[in-house]
Amino acid sequence: MDKFRIGDITVHRIEEWQGTFVPPEYLFRGFQSSGWEPHEAEFVPDFFRREDRKLYAFLQTWVLDTGSRRILFDTGAGNDKVRPGIPLFGNLKTDFLERLARAGFRPEDIDIVICSHIHVDHVGWNTMMVDGQWRVTFPNARYLLPLADRDYWDPAISTQGPGETGTVVNAGMFEDSVLPLIHARRAEWVDDGYEVLPGLSLLARPGHTPGSMVLRVASRDDRAMFVGDVVHHPAQIYNPDWNSLYCEDQEQARISRRLVLNEAADTGALFVPAHFGGAHVVRVAYDGKAFKPIYV
Ligand SMILES: [Zn+2]
Repeated sequence: MDKFRIGDITVHRIEEWQGTFVPPEYLFRGFQSSGWEPHEAEFVPDFFRREDRKLYAFLQTWVLDTGSRRILFDTGAGNDKVRPGIPLFGNLKTDFLERLARAGFRPEDIDIVICSHIHVDHVGWNTMMVDGQWRVTFPNARYLLPLADRDYWDPAISTQGPGETGTVVNAGMFEDSVLPLIHARRAEWVDDGYEVLPGLSLLARPGHTPGSMVLRVASRDDRAMFVGDVVHHPAQIYNPDWNSLYCEDQEQARISRRLVLNEAADTGALFVPAHFGGAHVVRVAYDGKAFKPIYV
C-alpha cells in the first residue's frame, strides 16, 4: 500500500529502491531450512526470488501526515554516499526527492524526521551533497535520533564500538549522515517512551542496534507499529529467533522481536517494517504456538 490511514493520520510510502539482496541463509543468523521451506512458496515473488535464490527487499520510508504535522520515518540510503562495505547502497542516484514531491511533500514541508536506528540504510537522506558538502536535506525538520545509538556509533563518544560487520557496512555513515545534523544543531537525541506528538511515541526495542526504536501510533481506534529493522522479513515472524547478520546484540534482538510481535498480535496493530515487499505492511497473528503474518 502506498497510502493508507491510521485514524486521522494519512501515511504515504515513499520508495527509494527495490531489488534482490542476499540469500536467506546469508542474512539470517540461526537460519534452518525447516523454518524456511514450508513458507518459501508464499514468499515468491514479493519477498524471495527463486531464480537466484535471493531475498527481495525494499528501501522505503514513510510520511505520516497528521494534518498539522508531517513526520518522515526513516530516510533510506541517500544519494552519493560512499559505501565500500555495502556497494549496493553506495553512490545511489535515485529520484527519491521527486517521489516525495509526487506524494505532495517538498523537503521544507517535513516537520519531524525520525530515524528508527542509526544504520546506513535508515539515515541516508538526512543529508544530501550540495556544493561539495553534506547539507541537511529537510531544512525545517527536527531530527529525532536514538540516544543509545549515538553512544554506540559516534566515533568521538563510543567506547564499546560496533561489531565487525557493523563497522564495515556502516563505514563513513556517521560522518556523512549524522554529524552534519549535530553541527547544524538539528539532532535531538531521544530515549524510551519519548512522545513525538499525542498518540505517537517511540519505544526502545534494542538489539538490532543498541538504540533501535519502534514508533507506536494510535489514532481513533486504529493502531500501527513502525518497527524499522526489528523484523526484516516475514520469515522472522514465523521464526522470531532468526536475527539478521546486521543485528549488533543477537540475544537482545531476539527479545525485542518477540516483544513487538506479541504487541502486534495482541493489539491487532498494523505492522510496518522497513524492508517488506508485497503490500509492505502486514498484521501479525498468534495461534498459541507460533506467529504468522497476515498479508493485507
Ligand atoms: Zn535496514
